Amino acid sequence: MSIVEHWINGEIASGTSARTGPVYNPAVGEVAREVRLASTADVDTAVQAAKAAFADWSAASWSKRQQVMFAFREILNSRKAEVAALLTNEHGKVTSDALGEVARGLEVVEFATAIPHLAKGEYSENVSTGVDVYSIKQAIGVVGIISPFNFPAMVPLWFFPIAIAAGNTVVLKPSEKDPSASLWMAAALKEAGLPDGVFNVVNGDKESVDALLEHPDVASISFVGSTPIAKYIYETASRNGKRVQALGGAKNHMLVLPDADLDLVADSAINAGFGSAGERCMAISVVIAVEPVADELISKIQDRMSGLTVGDGLRNCDMGPLITKEHRDKVASYIDVATADGATVVVDGRGIQVDGEAGGFWLGPTLIDRVPLDSRVYTEEIFGPVLSIVRVATYEEGLAIINASRYGNGTAIFTNDGGAARRFQREVQVGMVGINVPIPVPVGYFSFGGWKDSLFGDAKAYGQAAVNFFTREKGITSRWLDPSHGGINLGFPQN
Ligand code: NAD
Repeated sequence: MSIVEHWINGEIASGTSARTGPVYNPAVGEVAREVRLASTADVDTAVQAAKAAFADWSAASWSKRQQVMFAFREILNSRKAEVAALLTNEHGKVTSDALGEVARGLEVVEFATAIPHLAKGEYSENVSTGVDVYSIKQAIGVVGIISPFNFPAMVPLWFFPIAIAAGNTVVLKPSEKDPSASLWMAAALKEAGLPDGVFNVVNGDKESVDALLEHPDVASISFVGSTPIAKYIYETASRNGKRVQALGGAKNHMLVLPDADLDLVADSAINAGFGSAGERCMAISVVIAVEPVADELISKIQDRMSGLTVGDGLRNCDMGPLITKEHRDKVASYIDVATADGATVVVDGRGIQVDGEAGGFWLGPTLIDRVPLDSRVYTEEIFGPVLSIVRVATYEEGLAIINASRYGNGTAIFTNDGGAARRFQREVQVGMVGINVPIPVPVGYFSFGGWKDSLFGDAKAYGQAAVNFFTREKGITSRWLDPSHGGINLGFPQN
């Protein structure tokens, strides 16, 4: 069986570890290949390669780094079908969704091509007589990136294009569940002219993550994953003196006001609840219906659900499998929890007809009404195709529920009342807000990140926030003496 290895110093490397883990094709339910699980020593080898490459790469001209990004963009764009095929094979998402993932990642590459402009400093002439002050942004060193299974291409692309364009060198630890896209991108970066050692991929599990968090030559950590791990990453990396951004889990609510267009709401709830089998951190998992619309809305959602097809992402289906058997079983177990807690299971996705192999990790779209707020179905992130309905009497009641959530990644309001929408955007305690838009993922030139337990640290991903995260600013005060300006003065210059 083939093994997905590491990528260190511009080439495939097996490292010293004999440990491997399984990589499944979730639509078939069988192990497709193995992935190497790095030792602490292997992580050190990658960090040393990145450290050695840093001196030259950080000193390369802005235009040189920009040109590599342009070349990488062309390769990724022209061969995105190859990446999409890897995503479908290892993650299970359907081809159209896999292509969409690459497209969202490409936005960040395109943004990074503007790095000479984005990382410009400021200049003030004559702040005091003959004295100028200016600022420059410099790379921070070797940056570590640790990514989750649900976006094997896009999440690494949220970070490394900007990190590299800004002059840093990278060690990426992808999810061990679907590692191949990262290796593909490593080879593409080399083809684009990136010097060896600037971008490295180390595959692994907790051992490699901990090695990155503790390595003295790693300047920063960018993490995306579940909330408990994000918190651990944030605390450990901070304790080790690193700059850290750790994006965590989510439980996203869609608030539906009585004046909303219920057909638009039903379409949006389906797209945002069941796209990518609900394995998106911006998926809608709770619809809060302000009465009296719940019954009508549920009937519209149910109608649409009956037309959804589930199966192998290579076929013409709407939704693929879940990532592993354990994850599928865990997600499915919430349906029993819902019944036990007194909720109404409107559509049960277990045992659905699929267009795929019997052994695939299938669970059909599931709809649960009247979910109690103290049920684990409501309080926990499910990360699968399970959509909950909560009924409320007023806007205020719905808003209070959203604001009481420990998570604050994304939310949406559906209404035709501009005043209500405007009030919601101000009052809601969530980092990304949609107004009649169910998945408000900001485009590449804004920044992505939630509030509360959905983001530890104060730095969002991509956009200008990332340029700041991956650079440090130096302030320079300079005086080129006019010969007439000599003399002793022990005070601060004042004019
Ligand atoms: P995860 O937390 O299990 O894994 C994320 C990364 O952490 C992986 O690389 C994994 O190898 C590593 N890891 C896992 N356990 C670890 C441990 N004990 N110690 C150190 N490292 C460990 O997350 P996942 O299941 O791969 O991804 C799904 C989660 O990611 C969901 O909670 C989802 O909401 C979240 N997510 C959040 C965002 C966001 O932007 N906020 C985006 C995508 C996914």
